[in-house]
Amino acid sequence: MTNFKTGGPWVTRFAPSPTGAPHLGNVRTAVLNFLLARQSGGTFLLRLEDTDRERSAFAHEAAILWSLSWLGLAPDRPVRHQSLRLDDYHAAVDRLADAGRAYPCFCSEADLERERAEAAAKHLPPRYSGRCAALTAAERADRVASGEPHVMRFRLPDRADVAFADLIKGDMRVPAGAFGDFVLLRQDGWPSYNLAVVVDDIDMGVTLVLRGEDHLTNTARQILLYEALGHTPPHFAHHGLLVDTEGRKLSKRSGALGIPDCIRAGLEPMAVVHYLASLSGALPTKKLFESLDDMARAFNPFALGRGNAVMNLDELRALSARYFRAADPESHVRALDEALPAGDPWHALPDGLRRDLVLGLRDNAATLDDLRALLPHFTADEIRYGASAFSELTAGTAVLDALLEALPASDPHARLTASDASELLKRTAAQADVKGRALYHPIRLALTGSDSGPELSALLTLLTVDRIRERVHAANMFSPRTNKE
Ligand code: GLU
Repeated sequence: MTNFKTGGPWVTRFAPSPTGAPHLGNVRTAVLNFLLARQSGGTFLLRLEDTDRERSAFAHEAAILWSLSWLGLAPDRPVRHQSLRLDDYHAAVDRLADAGRAYPCFCSEADLERERAEAAAKHLPPRYSGRCAALTAAERADRVASGEPHVMRFRLPDRADVAFADLIKGDMRVPAGAFGDFVLLRQDGWPSYNLAVVVDDIDMGVTLVLRGEDHLTNTARQILLYEALGHTPPHFAHHGLLVDTEGRKLSKRSGALGIPDCIRAGLEPMAVVHYLASLSGALPTKKLFESLDDMARAFNPFALGRGNAVMNLDELRALSARYFRAADPESHVRALDEALPAGDPWHALPDGLRRDLVLGLRDNAATLDDLRALLPHFTADEIRYGASAFSELTAGTAVLDALLEALPASDPHARLTASDASELLKRTAAQADVKGRALYHPIRLALTGSDSGPELSALLTLLTVDRIRERVHAANMFSPRTNKE
């Protein structure tokens, strides 16, 4: 039996409708299709389903393309737009009509509404009665020729149970009568979703339709269309939806997190792909991946469960922080070079120090913005001490005095080595006769004005000896001894 491994190489597609900004639920579908295509040596395609003329917008389309590009999920062939393919949909409907499988339906919205109400009163599913299916060929031709508005409907076959083996959900069966003759072309000549999707999936050579389970109800209609058009349906796999930690489904309309939000939050693109693929256990999160190809190799589609995938923003942030800290430090140096305005002291720092600052500080940062916020503690000419720092610094006078005394008299622009720094701390501790927090905290505060930051011994190597002296002097201004003098 075909499964994810035996059925490849897969031609997959991501087929978003540009009717809203893409959210992480949609993006997850793109990720799964991309990884599966890559893993099987297949092809990943992108199709914009822009046939809802009222709701489709160029801005949403741009957001989709741009989001995929940020994530690195480039399609293997040019992007296709359904709005440019109306002729092909019409040609397919003409073929179906010639074969007696499509017919014009002249029922008005009011007629259909009445039928729906009647069905609801009898507790039946709302479905088209097939009234116009019974018209004679001559009646049809006359009414069409007279310009009467109509849609084109698909004529369901008599035997209508549809069975298929879903690669995730298992054997599925949709009983006859679950739906009626459905619309292929709307009154304005634009295709329905079900028609366009099938015509395009055939034309693009798609072999696996991997999408959210909210489309499961369409699959039976699509399979019938494949058969009527003389094509073998592709394989189908419907994954569970992405829900938030309260179990609510993410949707465009509920304003769920999108890629622009991820960018604003400083998340790493690799982490977003990795996280979305890891939900339901399809990719381990223990190790980080070097590339999307590595990820594709480790991806396990068999783990894609039937249940929903729960999105937890804190987990995504934590994974992103790991990618951030593992990145090439030079890439962060370059990013800061670009992000910081001309005139920022960062630009005057020697190359080696910029790199050391990135390496020294990023363990305390999860994003580039965090890193950027830590820099002034090291690069500013003057440290501003908050009110709460005053009492701490006052209490630490003896430590700061001892540190000044123990500071080697070296080249003012020199920095301490790691062993100089630990020697300095040892001597300061001995001289002031303190250890632990009473030793470290006043020094940390004096040097950076901040409570947190890298290990003190690392911190001492990130400032020049001159800067250390200057800052400790400045901090010591608060000491009772200095005030008395
Ligand atoms: N255009 C549909 C959507 O955005 C997807 C259709 C499909 O994958 O078949 O939900």
